[in-house]
Amino acid sequence: MKLNLDPKIEEFKTCLKQWQHRKLTLLGKVTVIKTYALPKLIYPLTNLQTPKQNTIKLIQDIMHEFLWDKKTAKIKQDTIIQNYEDGGIKMIDIKKFINSLKASWIKKILELKADNSLKHIYYKTLNKYGGNLIFESNLVEIDINNMFHKSSFLKDVLIAWRNITLEDMKLTTPKTVIWNNSLIRAADRPLFYCSWLAKGIKCLEDIFDNRTNKFYTFDFIQFLYGIPKADYLKYLTLINSIPKEIKQALNNSNTNTNLIKSKVDKLFNSSRANKYLYDSQIKSKKTEIKQQQSWEHRLNKRDIEWEPIYKLTFETTEDNKLRDFNYKYLMGIVRTNKELFKFSLVTSTLCDFCGLVPENTRHLFWECQHVQTFWANLSNVFSICNINVDINFLNISLGMPNIKQHKTPINYILMLAKYYIFRCKCLQEKPIFCHFKNYFKYKLNIEKHIAIRKGKIDIYHAKWNPFSILL
Ligand SMILES: [Zn+2]
Repeated sequence: MKLNLDPKIEEFKTCLKQWQHRKLTLLGKVTVIKTYALPKLIYPLTNLQTPKQNTIKLIQDIMHEFLWDKKTAKIKQDTIIQNYEDGGIKMIDIKKFINSLKASWIKKILELKADNSLKHIYYKTLNKYGGNLIFESNLVEIDINNMFHKSSFLKDVLIAWRNITLEDMKLTTPKTVIWNNSLIRAADRPLFYCSWLAKGIKCLEDIFDNRTNKFYTFDFIQFLYGIPKADYLKYLTLINSIPKEIKQALNNSNTNTNLIKSKVDKLFNSSRANKYLYDSQIKSKKTEIKQQQSWEHRLNKRDIEWEPIYKLTFETTEDNKLRDFNYKYLMGIVRTNKELFKFSLVTSTLCDFCGLVPENTRHLFWECQHVQTFWANLSNVFSICNINVDINFLNISLGMPNIKQHKTPINYILMLAKYYIFRCKCLQEKPIFCHFKNYFKYKLNIEKHIAIRKGKIDIYHAKWNPFSILL
């Protein structure tokens, strides 16, 4: 197995190295990883044994080095792997990616035709535990290892599945499967009574009376399912194996679904199993983004709705450089002299434009006298165009996701203006409005050519004609 994956990881690394010297944006790098490097690993990761932790860590480190130019990450991994609307840039999480490649085999297994020889091989093992029922069961890794030590393929698939459905497994409901449940065990292994399953006993609700909140008596089960008298000991073992927590959960349960089962169904019906499994892992693990609090504090505004703000960056423009800049701005990693001074990268914290006041984000992009003049000019242009835009630090920082008219062009202009100010800082020039106008014209010309190429010139004109004074 090592023989096969290692050269592929080497290829993966070499591929990224070839791109390293280009000055790519964060978003550009994510694209390179996903489009050029990662495909080299898909085949071996799908078909070989799941790699060991240190191999996964190696892949992770290679991507990290590439993304952050061998420096410390400026944005948390948990954040960048999120979707755009949740403050991420859809960076790959390799563990979740491997989980989805492996677990997507479940769909393939379920779809196997009866005459397929693989079906015979897989089900020879699976049938010991109730066949497809295993995919709906709550099994922890250690039990999977014990039960499937002879089939490393099924073991890997089930462990990946466990990782994906971890949250779903936490919830015990009347529909939770009794069998192969790591919480319901005797002689230190999960129980499975094949003959009871055949008689129709599968979920907790099949043996639990939700009116009295008690498990059925043996007599009643015997009567209901035609279980032989000789199974009384089996009955006792089962009832005694069900822990208090499960009984409590059943008493309090107000849902009646098996979330694992519904995930199996969705997987089975999905046209892109991999993507479904990967997305479901990302969506289930949203993390708090600290920068949001910092903005709320800075803007003295609580309960900001972030989703439309994050989305706006990507809806407004296709220009990756601009997207990248705006994303970094929102994430608070556009460095001003205040931070650069801390890292001894500049000799003073003072503003590059006025040289009078310490430079932080609010000063550089809003309060500085030179920037104020710039924004006043822009505001003036908007009013000449009869377009009402309230230019303030909040709106220029987070954009205006809720305006009804001219949403895209207005936000584009605000974004580009911020980017222009930052370019001026980097070039050690003062922002001058007529220079911005030229820059804007130049940028829009590119947009225009893209529109012509895509046959969308009408949309382009409708979008930009009201702003013709800027052109
Ligand atoms: Zn200044």
